[in-house]
Amino acid sequence: MSRPFVRFTAVLVLAVAASAQGRGGPTVDAPRPRLVVLCSIDQLADWVWQAARPHFGKDGGFARLLGNGAYFPQCAYEHACSETGPGHATIGTGAPAAGHGIVRNAWWSPADGRAVYCVEEPMAALPELKEGKDRGPGRLLLRTLGDGVKAHVPGAKVVSVSWKDRAAILMAGRSADIVCWFEATTGNLVTNTAWVDKTPGWIVDFNEKRAIDGFHGWVWDRFGPPDAYAGLVDDRPYEVPHQNGSNQRTLPQPVTGGKPEPGGAFYTQVYVSPVGNTMVRLAGEAAVRGNGLGSDDVPDLLCISFSSVDIVGHTFGPDSVEARDTLLRLDRELATFFAFLDREVGADRWAVFVTADHGVGPTPEWAKAHGVDAGRGLLQTQARAAAEKALTEQFGAPPEGKRWITHVGEFSLFFDQAVLESKQGALDAATMHRQASRIAAAAAAGTKGFAAAFATSDLLETDPLGDPLRIALRKALCPGRAGDVQLVVKPYWLDGVIPASHGTPHPYDREVVAFAMGPGVPAGVRFAAPITPGFGTVLFAEMLGIPKPPGAVDTLPAGLFRMR
Ligand SMILES: [Zn+2]
Repeated sequence: MSRPFVRFTAVLVLAVAASAQGRGGPTVDAPRPRLVVLCSIDQLADWVWQAARPHFGKDGGFARLLGNGAYFPQCAYEHACSETGPGHATIGTGAPAAGHGIVRNAWWSPADGRAVYCVEEPMAALPELKEGKDRGPGRLLLRTLGDGVKAHVPGAKVVSVSWKDRAAILMAGRSADIVCWFEATTGNLVTNTAWVDKTPGWIVDFNEKRAIDGFHGWVWDRFGPPDAYAGLVDDRPYEVPHQNGSNQRTLPQPVTGGKPEPGGAFYTQVYVSPVGNTMVRLAGEAAVRGNGLGSDDVPDLLCISFSSVDIVGHTFGPDSVEARDTLLRLDRELATFFAFLDREVGADRWAVFVTADHGVGPTPEWAKAHGVDAGRGLLQTQARAAAEKALTEQFGAPPEGKRWITHVGEFSLFFDQAVLESKQGALDAATMHRQASRIAAAAAAGTKGFAAAFATSDLLETDPLGDPLRIALRKALCPGRAGDVQLVVKPYWLDGVIPASHGTPHPYDREVVAFAMGPGVPAGVRFAAPITPGFGTVLFAEMLGIPKPPGAVDTLPAGLFRMR
């Protein structure tokens, strides 16, 4: 698993022209697909996929994607904010975070006096699905591929399914026919009045059948042969125990939530196990059938995001037995889902683009054991304390009960603007803000685990002069949302006690998998051209003969696709 150390910023400096290599040869003329599928696998870094690649099944989903489709080894996010909300919004709009506005999973809102979640929006619940309330795409600033499909293809349907609300919502957007996700309190597939005024019958059926409850007591054991886990250590002290009361960090484990009956604890453990992906696949199949997706010549769009790869990676580490096993099982789920689409839609009548919302770093302990400078700690808390101290030294203590920094999260510091105003003295507000930002950044950058910190105003107003780091940070900024200081953690350093995470501008967090397969896409081809995970929006716009989304940054490499 030396992969994460190999391609440092390679995608940023490569200016390779599209070069198709492989046995596929020239593209074929193809009919317009009846169904296009945007598929995200949450947290599937390219390095994680490469490490597991020898162990995927010969008849698995990845083998089919590689054999029948195109593989893009140079797919990376432009933005530094390698998080779930920003990534799914890019997959749906084709734009980096600075364009679509979902710059973090949550950000400080001075107007609300609190942090706001990227898909929170006042929205009435449906009577049967009360837990689906107050979610919507209202903070998304760009139109999605789904919006374009609805606007330009009369009769087309757009449907989105995920375990996570933000994944389903941000991939599809406002004008989708239905967007649905799971809620762990009830294990229900839910939606709300942002999309429908009545719960669709297929969702009622899906929830009444309680397929999820059928997994209560299912024992999660290793799925692959022993060599598929070679070199992986199952029991590591920094892993989080399985949430079934066993207090163990090893497989096998029953999935019960530690309770005799299904309930919130069980549904939460389902999410932190491969069963979460199975449930998303089942919901995807129900959505295809329930909405008649791909059943006629009017093309439809399905967005589907498998969330459990992410939470399993966070909980046990992407270099864990559990994460490897979840990926091997996902390979099967993809094969099953593709076979289902063959039956429902027709083997040559649907297309898929598979990518990920962000990557992940290895556990710092693993990195350290491989000779890399790595570590963990309450890094952002320490950066905040250092910034508070430096600001107080420069400008005096903030008013009683107040702090200079009102919120820290996802590598941003947000000032309490009222405190800045109260301490600005003879300075004008802009000068005070600039000085405070630079002082806070300098202090934060000097704390443990940080490589750099920048005043947001400096990033926005200064030419990045080709510096890949500052370019990536700029692409993660949106006025009013991204904070006043941007923190850059050192590679392989982790904030907090969670085994592994993402959210940095480093290659392991930004370089993700990408595959395209479908009519007109040459088989078994590797495209070396750099793309972003928003590429699917451009490919599918071309396949459907509609304009690409307004913020989409990718272009189609020559030879990838030709429509009849
Ligand atoms: Zn995550």
